[in-house]
Amino acid sequence: MNLSQYLHMLSASSTNPYRCAYCGNMVHALSNGSFCNYCEMPRKEIETILKEQHDLLSAKIEFLGEYKYEKASKKVDEIAQKYPSPGVLYASAIFYSEYSNYMFRGVDYNGKGYMYENSQKREQSWILHAKSRGLMHSCIKMCNDELKSGYTDFTAYVKLLSSARIKDIVAANEAFSMLSKSDAKGQIQIYSAMVYYTLVKNRKEASINISAMANSDINFAYYASEIYIYGKDNASAKKILSSFLNNSKMPHASELLAKVDDAMEASKV
Ligand SMILES: [Zn+2]
Repeated sequence: MNLSQYLHMLSASSTNPYRCAYCGNMVHALSNGSFCNYCEMPRKEIETILKEQHDLLSAKIEFLGEYKYEKASKKVDEIAQKYPSPGVLYASAIFYSEYSNYMFRGVDYNGKGYMYENSQKREQSWILHAKSRGLMHSCIKMCNDELKSGYTDFTAYVKLLSSARIKDIVAANEAFSMLSKSDAKGQIQIYSAMVYYTLVKNRKEASINISAMANSDINFAYYASEIYIYGKDNASAKKILSSFLNNSKMPHASELLAKVDDAMEASKV
Protein backbone atom coordinates (compact mmCIF):
# COMPACT_ATOMS: atom_id res chain seq x y z
CA MET A 1 0.00 0.00 0.00
CA ASN A 2 1.18 3.54 -0.67
CA LEU A 3 0.74 6.77 1.25
CA SER A 4 -2.50 7.86 -0.40
CA GLN A 5 -4.00 4.41 0.23
CA TYR A 6 -3.00 4.60 3.89
CA LEU A 7 -4.46 8.10 4.21
CA HIS A 8 -7.62 6.93 2.49
CA MET A 9 -7.93 4.01 4.95
CA LEU A 10 -7.61 6.46 7.83
CA SER A 11 -10.16 8.95 6.51
CA ALA A 12 -12.63 6.26 5.39
CA SER A 13 -12.53 4.38 8.69
CA SER A 14 -15.79 4.71 10.53
CA THR A 15 -15.04 4.22 14.15
CA ASN A 16 -17.19 3.79 17.21
CA PRO A 17 -15.99 5.34 20.43
CA TYR A 18 -15.74 2.94 23.35
CA ARG A 19 -14.08 3.06 26.73
CA CYS A 20 -11.03 0.82 26.88
CA ALA A 21 -11.62 -1.32 29.94
CA TYR A 22 -7.88 -1.64 30.23
CA CYS A 23 -6.32 1.85 30.20
CA GLY A 24 -9.60 3.60 30.89
CA ASN A 25 -9.51 5.93 27.88
CA MET A 26 -12.26 6.73 25.42
CA VAL A 27 -10.90 5.37 22.16
CA HIS A 28 -12.12 4.60 18.66
CA ALA A 29 -12.45 1.08 17.38
CA LEU A 30 -13.40 -0.39 14.04
CA SER A 31 -14.82 -3.60 15.42
CA ASN A 32 -14.87 -5.79 18.49
CA GLY A 33 -11.62 -7.33 17.37
CA SER A 34 -9.74 -4.04 17.35
CA PHE A 35 -6.91 -2.92 19.54
CA CYS A 36 -7.04 0.10 21.84
CA ASN A 37 -5.78 3.22 20.07
CA TYR A 38 -4.09 4.38 23.26
CA CYS A 39 -2.53 1.35 24.95
CA GLU A 40 -2.73 -1.19 22.06
CA MET A 41 -4.28 -3.86 24.22
CA PRO A 42 -6.62 -6.22 22.39
CA ARG A 43 -10.21 -5.47 23.28
CA LYS A 44 -11.36 -9.06 23.70
CA GLU A 45 -8.54 -10.21 25.99
CA ILE A 46 -9.08 -7.20 28.19
CA GLU A 47 -12.63 -8.05 28.95
CA THR A 48 -11.84 -11.57 30.04
CA ILE A 49 -8.35 -11.68 31.51
CA LEU A 50 -7.83 -8.79 33.89
CA LYS A 51 -11.33 -7.67 34.76
CA GLU A 52 -10.68 -6.53 38.32
CA GLN A 53 -7.59 -4.51 37.51
CA HIS A 54 -9.28 -2.95 34.51
CA ASP A 55 -12.13 -1.68 36.58
CA LEU A 56 -9.63 0.01 38.86
CA LEU A 57 -7.58 1.45 36.03
CA SER A 58 -10.75 2.89 34.59
CA ALA A 59 -11.13 4.93 37.76
CA LYS A 60 -8.29 7.22 36.69
CA ILE A 61 -10.27 8.54 33.72
CA GLU A 62 -12.01 11.07 35.88
CA PHE A 63 -8.67 12.71 36.51
CA LEU A 64 -7.52 12.42 32.92
CA GLY A 65 -10.66 14.10 31.68
CA GLU A 66 -9.53 17.24 33.46
CA TYR A 67 -5.90 16.70 32.60
CA LYS A 68 -5.02 16.57 36.21
CA TYR A 69 -2.08 14.36 35.56
CA GLU A 70 -0.56 14.71 38.97
CA LYS A 71 -3.64 13.38 40.73
CA ALA A 72 -4.01 10.68 38.10
CA SER A 73 -0.41 9.59 38.61
CA LYS A 74 -1.08 8.99 42.32
CA LYS A 75 -4.00 6.76 41.41
CA VAL A 76 -1.95 4.94 38.78
CA ASP A 77 0.88 4.33 41.28
CA GLU A 78 -1.60 3.07 43.85
CA ILE A 79 -3.09 0.58 41.38
CA ALA A 80 0.33 -0.60 40.19
CA GLN A 81 1.35 -1.27 43.81
CA LYS A 82 -1.86 -3.01 44.70
CA TYR A 83 -2.07 -5.12 41.52
CA PRO A 84 1.45 -5.61 40.21
CA SER A 85 0.94 -7.53 36.97
CA PRO A 86 2.61 -7.14 33.56
CA GLY A 87 -0.52 -5.61 32.08
CA VAL A 88 -0.95 -3.06 34.87
CA LEU A 89 2.74 -2.07 34.77
CA TYR A 90 2.51 -1.66 31.01
CA ALA A 91 -0.59 0.53 31.28
CA SER A 92 1.13 2.63 33.97
CA ALA A 93 4.21 3.04 31.76
CA ILE A 94 2.05 4.24 28.87
CA PHE A 95 0.34 6.71 31.20
CA TYR A 96 3.70 8.18 32.25
CA SER A 97 4.69 8.48 28.63
CA GLU A 98 1.58 10.58 28.02
CA TYR A 99 2.28 12.65 31.15
CA SER A 100 5.83 13.28 29.91
CA ASN A 101 4.53 14.41 26.48
CA TYR A 102 2.07 16.70 28.24
CA MET A 103 4.85 18.41 30.23
CA PHE A 104 6.98 18.71 27.13
CA ARG A 105 4.17 20.37 25.19
CA GLY A 106 3.96 22.93 28.00
CA VAL A 107 7.38 24.32 27.04
CA ASP A 108 6.64 27.83 25.81
CA TYR A 109 9.35 29.65 23.88
CA ASN A 110 7.46 32.94 23.79
CA GLY A 111 6.32 33.22 27.41
CA LYS A 112 7.72 35.71 29.92
CA GLY A 113 10.58 34.39 32.01
CA TYR A 114 10.44 31.31 29.83
CA MET A 115 14.01 30.20 30.41
CA TYR A 116 13.54 29.03 33.99
CA GLU A 117 10.03 27.64 33.55
CA ASN A 118 10.94 25.89 30.32
CA SER A 119 14.00 24.21 31.77
CA GLN A 120 11.87 23.03 34.72
CA LYS A 121 9.23 21.61 32.39
CA ARG A 122 11.84 19.91 30.24
CA GLU A 123 13.44 18.38 33.30
CA GLN A 124 10.08 17.13 34.60
CA SER A 125 9.29 15.71 31.19
CA TRP A 126 12.58 13.77 31.24
CA ILE A 127 11.97 12.46 34.76
CA LEU A 128 8.52 11.20 33.69
CA HIS A 129 9.97 9.68 30.54
CA ALA A 130 12.57 7.83 32.64
CA LYS A 131 9.83 6.61 34.97
CA SER A 132 7.89 5.27 32.00
CA ARG A 133 10.96 3.40 30.73
CA GLY A 134 11.63 2.01 34.23
CA LEU A 135 8.08 0.65 34.37
CA MET A 136 8.50 -0.96 30.92
CA HIS A 137 11.67 -2.70 32.19
CA SER A 138 9.83 -3.91 35.32
CA CYS A 139 7.00 -5.10 33.11
CA ILE A 140 9.37 -7.17 30.94
CA LYS A 141 10.90 -8.74 34.07
CA MET A 142 7.48 -9.64 35.39
CA CYS A 143 6.46 -11.09 32.00
CA ASN A 144 9.59 -13.27 32.10
CA ASP A 145 8.59 -14.61 35.52
CA GLU A 146 5.05 -15.32 34.36
CA LEU A 147 6.22 -16.95 31.14
CA LYS A 148 8.48 -19.30 33.13
CA SER A 149 5.53 -20.63 35.07
CA GLY A 150 3.15 -20.87 32.13
CA TYR A 151 2.83 -19.47 28.63
CA THR A 152 -0.03 -17.28 27.50
CA ASP A 153 -0.23 -15.30 24.26
CA PHE A 154 -1.35 -12.30 26.29
CA THR A 155 1.78 -12.22 28.50
CA ALA A 156 4.05 -12.68 25.47
CA TYR A 157 2.14 -9.89 23.71
CA VAL A 158 2.56 -7.48 26.67
CA LYS A 159 6.27 -8.34 26.72
CA LEU A 160 6.54 -7.60 23.00
CA LEU A 161 4.77 -4.24 23.31
CA SER A 162 6.92 -3.18 26.29
CA SER A 163 10.09 -4.23 24.47
CA ALA A 164 9.05 -2.30 21.37
CA ARG A 165 8.44 0.87 23.38
CA ILE A 166 11.96 0.85 24.84
CA LYS A 167 13.55 -0.72 21.74
CA ASP A 168 14.78 -3.81 23.61
CA ILE A 169 15.40 -6.03 20.60
CA VAL A 170 16.54 -9.07 22.63
CA ALA A 171 13.34 -9.17 24.71
CA ALA A 172 11.25 -8.47 21.59
CA ASN A 173 12.91 -11.41 19.81
CA GLU A 174 12.08 -13.73 22.70
CA ALA A 175 8.47 -12.60 22.87
CA PHE A 176 7.90 -12.72 19.12
CA SER A 177 9.42 -16.17 18.71
CA MET A 178 7.03 -17.43 21.43
CA LEU A 179 4.04 -15.79 19.75
CA SER A 180 5.06 -17.23 16.36
CA LYS A 181 4.99 -20.75 17.81
CA SER A 182 1.54 -20.28 19.31
CA ASP A 183 -1.25 -22.41 17.89
CA ALA A 184 -3.54 -19.42 17.70
CA LYS A 185 -3.36 -17.54 14.42
CA GLY A 186 -5.50 -14.53 15.10
CA GLN A 187 -5.34 -10.76 15.25
CA ILE A 188 -2.76 -10.80 18.08
CA GLN A 189 -0.33 -12.72 15.86
CA ILE A 190 -0.72 -10.33 12.93
CA TYR A 191 -0.51 -7.28 15.18
CA SER A 192 2.60 -8.73 16.87
CA ALA A 193 4.26 -9.33 13.49
CA MET A 194 3.55 -5.70 12.56
CA VAL A 195 5.10 -4.46 15.84
CA TYR A 196 8.09 -6.79 15.68
CA TYR A 197 9.10 -6.36 12.03
CA THR A 198 8.77 -2.58 12.33
CA LEU A 199 11.01 -2.64 15.41
CA VAL A 200 13.74 -4.70 13.73
CA LYS A 201 13.42 -2.59 10.55
CA ASN A 202 12.46 -5.49 8.30
CA ARG A 203 10.58 -3.22 5.93
CA LYS A 204 9.27 -5.96 3.66
CA GLU A 205 7.66 -8.07 6.39
CA ALA A 206 6.55 -4.96 8.30
CA SER A 207 4.75 -3.60 5.22
CA ILE A 208 2.97 -6.92 4.61
CA ASN A 209 1.62 -6.98 8.17
CA ILE A 210 0.82 -3.25 8.24
CA SER A 211 -1.32 -3.75 5.13
CA ALA A 212 -2.93 -6.82 6.71
CA MET A 213 -3.92 -4.78 9.78
CA ALA A 214 -5.02 -1.70 7.82
CA ASN A 215 -8.50 -3.09 7.18
CA SER A 216 -9.28 -3.85 10.78
CA ASP A 217 -7.33 -1.40 12.89
CA ILE A 218 -6.25 2.22 12.51
CA ASN A 219 -3.17 1.62 14.71
CA PHE A 220 -1.44 0.43 11.54
CA ALA A 221 -0.77 4.14 10.92
CA TYR A 222 1.78 4.43 13.74
CA TYR A 223 3.82 1.56 12.29
CA ALA A 224 3.46 2.79 8.71
CA SER A 225 4.86 6.16 9.80
CA GLU A 226 7.89 4.41 11.34
CA ILE A 227 8.56 2.77 7.98
CA TYR A 228 8.48 6.19 6.26
CA ILE A 229 10.92 7.54 8.86
CA TYR A 230 13.31 4.63 8.16
CA GLY A 231 13.10 5.61 4.51
CA LYS A 232 13.92 9.24 5.49
CA ASP A 233 10.54 10.41 4.24
CA ASN A 234 9.53 12.59 7.19
CA ALA A 235 6.90 14.50 5.22
CA SER A 236 4.87 11.32 4.58
CA ALA A 237 5.38 10.19 8.20
CA LYS A 238 4.01 13.54 9.37
CA LYS A 239 0.92 13.28 7.13
CA ILE A 240 0.04 9.82 8.32
CA LEU A 241 0.69 10.55 12.01
CA SER A 242 -1.34 13.77 11.92
CA SER A 243 -4.26 11.97 10.31
CA PHE A 244 -4.01 9.11 12.82
CA LEU A 245 -3.91 11.48 15.80
CA ASN A 246 -7.26 12.97 14.78
CA ASN A 247 -8.78 9.71 15.98
CA SER A 248 -6.28 8.60 18.57
CA LYS A 249 -4.39 9.78 21.64
CA MET A 250 -1.63 7.15 21.43
CA PRO A 251 1.23 8.66 23.50
CA HIS A 252 4.05 7.17 21.42
CA ALA A 253 2.43 8.46 18.22
CA SER A 254 2.37 12.01 19.67
CA GLU A 255 5.99 11.61 20.73
CA LEU A 256 6.98 10.42 17.27
CA LEU A 257 5.17 13.32 15.59
CA ALA A 258 7.05 15.78 17.85
CA LYS A 259 10.34 14.15 16.80
CA VAL A 260 9.39 14.34 13.12
CA ASP A 261 8.47 18.02 13.51
CA ASP A 262 11.83 18.69 15.19
CA ALA A 263 13.73 16.88 12.44
CA MET A 264 11.83 18.76 9.70
CA GLU A 265 12.43 22.09 11.48
CA ALA A 266 16.15 21.33 11.85
CA SER A 267 16.52 20.40 8.18
CA LYS A 268 15.19 23.85 7.19
CA VAL A 269 18.09 25.61 8.91
ZN1 LIG B 1 -6.50 1.09 26.22
